[in-house]
Amino acid sequence: MTTASVRIRHLLDLGRGRVPGQLIIQLTDQCNARCPQCGMRVSEKFARTRLTNERVKRLLDAAIQRGIQIVSFTGGEPLLLLDDLIELINYAGKLGFAYIRTGTNGFLFRNPEKSDFSERMNRLAERLAATPLRNLWISVDSAVPAMHEHMRGFPGIIEGIARALPIFHAHGIYPSANVGLNRNMSEETAGLQILGAEPSDEAESHFYQVYRQALRQFYGYLTDLGFSMTSACYPMSIQPTDDGSLQSVYAATAMDMVVNFSRREKILLYRALSDTVEEYRDRIRILTPLSSLQALIAQTSGTSLKQYPCRGGIDYFFVDCRDGLTYPCGYRGNDSLGYLWDLDMSSLNSKKDCFLCDWECFRDPSELFGPVVEGLRDPRALFTRYRLQRPALQAWWQDVRYARACNFFDGRKPLVPERLRSFQKTARAEGCLVKTEPACQY
Ligand code: SF4
Ligand code: SF4
Repeated sequence: MTTASVRIRHLLDLGRGRVPGQLIIQLTDQCNARCPQCGMRVSEKFARTRLTNERVKRLLDAAIQRGIQIVSFTGGEPLLLLDDLIELINYAGKLGFAYIRTGTNGFLFRNPEKSDFSERMNRLAERLAATPLRNLWISVDSAVPAMHEHMRGFPGIIEGIARALPIFHAHGIYPSANVGLNRNMSEETAGLQILGAEPSDEAESHFYQVYRQALRQFYGYLTDLGFSMTSACYPMSIQPTDDGSLQSVYAATAMDMVVNFSRREKILLYRALSDTVEEYRDRIRILTPLSSLQALIAQTSGTSLKQYPCRGGIDYFFVDCRDGLTYPCGYRGNDSLGYLWDLDMSSLNSKKDCFLCDWECFRDPSELFGPVVEGLRDPRALFTRYRLQRPALQAWWQDVRYARACNFFDGRKPLVPERLRSFQKTARAEGCLVKTEPACQY
């Protein structure tokens, strides 16, 4: 499918109130890492499973017939199944998926000191570059290499990533660092907690400042490592709710303290992230929309800002590797939609608004597409929103312009520094930057 025909299809879908569909397929729950924030870590004792290639191809056939255009292959660790993964990426490309993505914990970047490292990396990059893969993400949990390597259980991996990136770039693949927000992001954040139901302003200010500094350190560190793109994974510590509305099927969540933040801490963390994203947008492509962070801050604070509901279960779906069934997302395990090939898209309830979690894979694009769908379907509602929530829509407009400056975060295209600098210069000149220090409350 050509870029023009993809765009036309997007526009037609938007006019019908649909955003480009997204399917996340969990290929396997096998993993070789030790991440404390995840229920699939190698030390967890449960029977591991995977979807067969035949099953995944059937899912892809069903997805493309239903107008889904974005597919992500996740795990566990997808690159444990490298040969199958490459076959599936090629299959998805032939079907016409416009955006194909996958990620890794980076285990293949181990042992950079070995003499065959460059050869191994060249072979890997060459194989991936020959597929229609658009985005490859590599997880990074801490700006302190030893901390990240300890969390993942892969000594020496950071050195391996630093050496592998130029090789990938030479093959036209620009991986994105997937930063999981957690308490081990820097030495200073480790162990920092806001205690008590009524924290003092001083404690809150300290928490904000420490995370602000950690995030600055993180973005600088990623740039030094050679990354040209990054995204943030919001902390997910899902507990089943009494009413059964949240029941995780995707085990990439845990109750470990490292990703478990109180409501107040989350607000401060998102503020620190928003301010830092804004500051670093001209240095690295940051796939974290400020409009989405504003919405999450408002939601967590309980303020009246009206957010756009998540498209999970309407346009976005998750397929679990254990039963091969489709769910609205990885966290609504009680809402199985059955097999994708049996799913009647017209039966989906687009009126059922969900704000139950902060899963960025679904919340970020939902927020980004929200004004477009609203503007096409109900321009008066958008106008009212503009009158009442002007800063939120300004942040959204900046996000759109920034995405354009970033080549829409295409992981097969390099960063163009002049475009990022020009974006930032214009945003600053227009005074459109979202609230930053010292105007920030903390
Ligand atoms: S977060 Fe990813 S790499 Fe870590 S244990 Fe879970 S699936 Fe494996
Ligand atoms: S907000 Fe989205 S991702 Fe989260 S539980 Fe609801 S549908 Fe799922």
